[in-house]
Amino acid sequence: MYLLFLDESGNNDKARHFILGGIAVFEGLITPLRQGVDALMEEHFPDAPHTPFHASELYSLAVSPKTPQFTRSNYRTLVSGLTQLILHHATAYNAPGIVLFGQIIEKALVPDPYLEAFEGIVARFNQFLITRHHAQDPQKGLVVVATSAQKRHTSLRLNYRTYRVQGTRLGYIYNLPLIPLFAEADATRLLQLADLVAYALRRYYEHKDAYYIDPLWSAFFQKNGRYAGLYHRTAQYRTCTCPACLTRRPQY
Ligand SMILES: [Zn+2]
Repeated sequence: MYLLFLDESGNNDKARHFILGGIAVFEGLITPLRQGVDALMEEHFPDAPHTPFHASELYSLAVSPKTPQFTRSNYRTLVSGLTQLILHHATAYNAPGIVLFGQIIEKALVPDPYLEAFEGIVARFNQFLITRHHAQDPQKGLVVVATSAQKRHTSLRLNYRTYRVQGTRLGYIYNLPLIPLFAEADATRLLQLADLVAYALRRYYEHKDAYYIDPLWSAFFQKNGRYAGLYHRTAQYRTCTCPACLTRRPQY
């Protein structure tokens, strides 16, 4: 089984994009990955090893003069450690151990960016499971969402049921269970890694800062030379040079 952990970014009014980041993890890697995050957090916060990793909150801490023991350089070392952890486990087995997903939606283009992003990412996760099936490795999937999104859970669950009955715009979903599972982000290290993916995407798409996302591109789900796990909904899709838009253009 693969578990897809999802976290969102850019839900405030100022952000131009709504971003959903996802990390799909093979069940056998859940424990080593959690232990890896635990060890890195303990290294940086020996007095508070259970500190949750929230990329933007820890960045604020790093630039604050009140915490000289955790600097911007410490922050970059921590994020780099988490990135290496993802990349290491991405190729841990013959089958992919970790695959990343992302939906980047220009808010002005759609009435409900969250639902659009959620539908898209679940459908892309399903496509990944179909590729596993074709590789003689049939796997089920489970979607895990942070409880911060639970306020939308009624519409989310209704839509999720519709996806299963009527299919999404990207095809039918056969491999996912009926409802997504909600979990507390503070207590779930894997949701914190999804937060890192969403944050890295936000730095790139909102602020043109590729520092965090560059090492992670290779871990996104790819199929037939395209970034099948990544979708950028933008009015500039003909000229955008992000990997998702670039690999979807006909001349590519
Ligand atoms: Zn793009």
